[in-house]
Amino acid sequence: MKTKQSTLFEISKPGRFALDLPKSDVPAYEMETLVPANLLRSKYAELPEVSQPDLIRHYTALSKRNFGVDSGFYPLGSCTMKYNPKVNEDVCRYPGFADIHPLQDVESTQGALELLYQMEQYLAEIAGMDAVTMQPVAGAHGELTGLKLIRQYHRSRGEVRTKVIVPDSAHGTNPATATVCGLEIVEIKSNDDGSINLDALKAAVGLDTAAFMLTNPSTLGLFEKNIKEIAQIVHAAGGLLYYDGANTNAVMGIVRPGDMGFDVVHINLHKTFSTPHGGGGPGSGPVGVKQELIPFLPVPIITYDGKKYDLEYNRPLSIGRMHSFYGNFGVIVRAYAYIRTMGPDGLRQASEDAVLNANYCLSQLREDYDAPFERYSMHECIITSKNQKQFGVKTLDIAKRLLDYGYHPPTIYFPLIVEEAIMIEPTETESKETLDGFIKAMREIAKEARTDVTQILDAPHDTVVGRLDETAAARKPVVRWKP
Ligand SMILES: *Cc1c(COP(=O)(O)O)cnc(C)c1O
Repeated sequence: MKTKQSTLFEISKPGRFALDLPKSDVPAYEMETLVPANLLRSKYAELPEVSQPDLIRHYTALSKRNFGVDSGFYPLGSCTMKYNPKVNEDVCRYPGFADIHPLQDVESTQGALELLYQMEQYLAEIAGMDAVTMQPVAGAHGELTGLKLIRQYHRSRGEVRTKVIVPDSAHGTNPATATVCGLEIVEIKSNDDGSINLDALKAAVGLDTAAFMLTNPSTLGLFEKNIKEIAQIVHAAGGLLYYDGANTNAVMGIVRPGDMGFDVVHINLHKTFSTPHGGGGPGSGPVGVKQELIPFLPVPIITYDGKKYDLEYNRPLSIGRMHSFYGNFGVIVRAYAYIRTMGPDGLRQASEDAVLNANYCLSQLREDYDAPFERYSMHECIITSKNQKQFGVKTLDIAKRLLDYGYHPPTIYFPLIVEEAIMIEPTETESKETLDGFIKAMREIAKEARTDVTQILDAPHDTVVGRLDETAAARKPVVRWKP
């Protein structure tokens, strides 16, 4: 195990400094008039005193403890931790994008508005929708926007529809968002093969159905087979169809939610379109809608008359604003750069490769691990630790052991409806050699389960810290150093 790293406070020695600053020439009496006396310190802050090299080494060492997609394979399912091409970062830093302010007059931000307008059109084309809003800043925020649009649509027709039907294979944000939106959830169980149970759906729909929300591919990594029937059943009851397209990475250029009959879709730019995740944001969850829902879109909408881009606020049926200004512009620029560099064929290829890589992993891991679904998967696949249970090995143990092999573990214990789930999403940019390395590590672990189980149960061995008390780490984090 690597040794513990001292804090800056612990290596501090009085009198050391990283920068030699000139003495302050602000007279003391001025300080006192600028800052009220009761807020002034009576003694110096107890800050660490270290030299510049020690300071730099400290933070460089800390930064190396981080694991990201730039440092290694990161097969975290449901989140699409895909590699983000560096050109996206260059483009969003162009002064014309980086140095403008959202309160500037539209005359001086025509380029930015053009980019937003084009992005709406690209995404409308990719999703098969009639219009798109770029305002929502996360997938869940897109869902909230979408459900508000649906609610407004029903209201405008004088209908009271309060129920949202959600399959148990949906992403957790779907029922959460519906609840936040003041709608009632009706959950329906999936069939054993992971598909939607049509009888359950028929029994659930009615005059009170506002919408049916489908995560597709589902959190099981499976493409829903009966979409046409589902669309018919829901539409016949007067409900609308919501498509959770956070994981569009499986279907870009191949199928479009709009063509499947969906009325509203959200797309996560921070998954499919190679913009960074991290720390809960900033993300982008644009929402696409069909014609009937356009009047309700958030304000302002971007208009173009062939000469000039403008912002239109006068939309009486709009649900209002969902975010300040026009969404997370910097993120949208990155996604724009990605779409433009990939082109339509490139996007399709990315999806095909993502699906191929997931199925390659699945087919190779099937020999040692239980795979609960017989079908091919989409961009992510699910295995479980069922075969390892007899040796006392659980999914958590396998994930911890993977750290010793130098891999970020896949998503574990999600989706909830698969016991001891391990959800692997390799993404399209990984080479066969990388996938083979990961598969080999997984197989080694399966072998260790049979022959040397303590290796797994005591893992991780090679990380800075061993197993954490995960509950205490979340509930009682120690984030402050005290002498
Ligand atoms: C990630 C994800 C979401 C939520 O997106 P956030 O940006 O994290 O709010 C919703 N649905 C699915 C299927 C997802 O994978």
